[in-house]
Amino acid sequence: MKVVVCVKQIPDPASPYTLEADSHWLVRPSEQVLDDTDRYGVEMGLQLAQANEGSVTLVSMGPAGNMQGIRQALAMGADKAVVVDDSTLRGADALTTARILAKAIANEGFDLVIAGTESTDGYSGVVPQMIAELLDVPALTYATTVDLSPDAVSIHRQTDLGYDVVNASLPALVTVTAGVVEPRYPTFKGIMEAKKKPVETFSIADLGLEPTIEQTVAAITAAPERTAGEKIEDEGEAYLRIVEKLEEVKVI
Ligand SMILES: Cc1cc2nc3c(=O)[nH]c(=O)nc-3n(C[C@H](O)[C@H](O)[C@H](O)COP(=O)(O)OP(=O)(O)OC[C@H]3O[C@@H](n4cnc5c(N)ncnc54)[C@H](O)[C@@H]3O)c2cc1C
Repeated sequence: MKVVVCVKQIPDPASPYTLEADSHWLVRPSEQVLDDTDRYGVEMGLQLAQANEGSVTLVSMGPAGNMQGIRQALAMGADKAVVVDDSTLRGADALTTARILAKAIANEGFDLVIAGTESTDGYSGVVPQMIAELLDVPALTYATTVDLSPDAVSIHRQTDLGYDVVNASLPALVTVTAGVVEPRYPTFKGIMEAKKKPVETFSIADLGLEPTIEQTVAAITAAPERTAGEKIEDEGEAYLRIVEKLEEVKVI
């Protein structure tokens, strides 16, 4: 069972993001971390591979930098990583990202692809479904549980009212929600072993693809400052003011 997990390296959310003055593109420093969303995908991949005598391959697109995010996922227990790092991909839009990842995944071969529902920095939430379309496999999204058998996968798909049971035959792609599993922390042994695990780096020419960067960021505006809320002193009828407020914002 070959499980491929899409993992994104992102600038550390703890430090403020910077945008390039001219292009307004996100500056991706060498120091990047594993997108927290993808820790759940890696953990789910490890559990499914271990239960099905399989392997876990990580696939990532973006500036490799010091590989800290990739090594973090390898230290959790993944077997190897494939990184597509090419300066012509700067400012790549979601469709370009999906094309690159789909090609790298197809080259690797796979039974199941796992991705997060949305990343922490771009959070367009569309890349996995695009990858599935490009690979011509079913996309089972927003999984809160995943059951895998040698030739099929079944998920509980999160809905507003609870969940739907969605089944498909393999190969397939699944997106997992945060909290679907409890990601393990890398052990010291895992961190040491990760240093020796194979990481293959490709340019887009290696994948036989052309750079197709169409998106440009015309302008950026800062989000409006959040104003301090209204303080309501409760002298027994505060609930009336709260009901009024809720009516004002048409919640009730
Ligand atoms: C602030 C900001 C705004 C943007 N706005 C747009 C926009 O409006 N339109 C547009 O087309 N692009 C936009 N982009 C670019 C887009 O974010 C990138 O193309 C990005 O690489 C993929 O999209 P995402 O992070 O939104 O993916 P999502 O679909 O949110 O990611 C879901 C999952 O897909 C996988 N995945 C996504 N990217 C990668 C990757 N590079 N490597 C490995 N796995 C990955 C991960 O498992 C991730 O959890 C924006 C980027 C930023 C930082």
